[in-house]
Amino acid sequence: MPEPIVFVLDVAPADAAEPASGWESTVRRVPADEPIVRGTDLAATRGDGVFETLGVLEGCPQAVDAHFWRLANSAGLLELPAPNLEQWRVAMRLAGAALPIDRQGGIKLVLSRGVEGANRPTGWLIATVAEDDFANRTDGWKVVTLDRGYRHDLSEHAPWLLPGAKTLSYAVNMATLREAARRGADNAIYVSSDGYVMEAPQSSVLLRRGDTLVTPKTDIGILPGTTQLSAFALAQEWGFATEDRLVPSGELLDSDGVWLLSSVKLATPITAVDGQPIAVDREFSDRLNAGLLARRE
Ligand code: PLP
Repeated sequence: MPEPIVFVLDVAPADAAEPASGWESTVRRVPADEPIVRGTDLAATRGDGVFETLGVLEGCPQAVDAHFWRLANSAGLLELPAPNLEQWRVAMRLAGAALPIDRQGGIKLVLSRGVEGANRPTGWLIATVAEDDFANRTDGWKVVTLDRGYRHDLSEHAPWLLPGAKTLSYAVNMATLREAARRGADNAIYVSSDGYVMEAPQSSVLLRRGDTLVTPKTDIGILPGTTQLSAFALAQEWGFATEDRLVPSGELLDSDGVWLLSSVKLATPITAVDGQPIAVDREFSDRLNAGLLARRE
């Protein structure tokens, strides 16, 4: 497996003008094994920061504006200084261009609150060649539903839990995947304590019901998915209706197809929910993945 490609940013405030030497001069590629984070960086000690993961095709990072919107939104929710998106755009371009053109890849962008006491964010970016051959896009995944432990109206009652922010604190998400594996599944779908479909630990959920595509609305404590946005845009071009709404968990088994969507793995069809097989709409699945793979922006 090729080494990750790492760039460190001299993080600029949102309102900083481009330096005379260009934004490129504020972004430094470093050897993958060079230490770049201090032991007292709050990303390391508290997971206090935000991140984004973008898919890369033929050296082009995908859906950059949607990811940047979410990055800025997450930073705002954590009361971090707003990111300078022009600087991040240049860093992203450099990272995309450093990946082999003939391989799918991913770029993870990290914005930390910074070294404790320094009052200055730190940021870096890691580009990797995508690790698998995407067999999941044809084989599909078995999922289990797991309780998220809070109601769908969390955002109204407990905004300090940062619903909708893509924070670096993914220990719970990783523990959820281990629980799914213990139960013999490939992935999990979170359900709110009052019975609504939310999201998976690293993906959004999409259902097909006839000529309508449905996804859980995003004000229920889940992340707005950039791949889901692209999937809806494609489906609308193809004449499907689209709905963002509350999705009772029973609809997972009462649908014409369910997918997990994410930036690098794209659309993975679900073959079973809680041990009950569900129909795989192979044709739509292939069409959706072809549409997502055709994006070049
Ligand atoms: N929900 C969660 C919790 C995620 O971590 C992710 C992606 O990492 C998604 C949804 C899907 O987002 P996107 O399609 O932008 O990759």
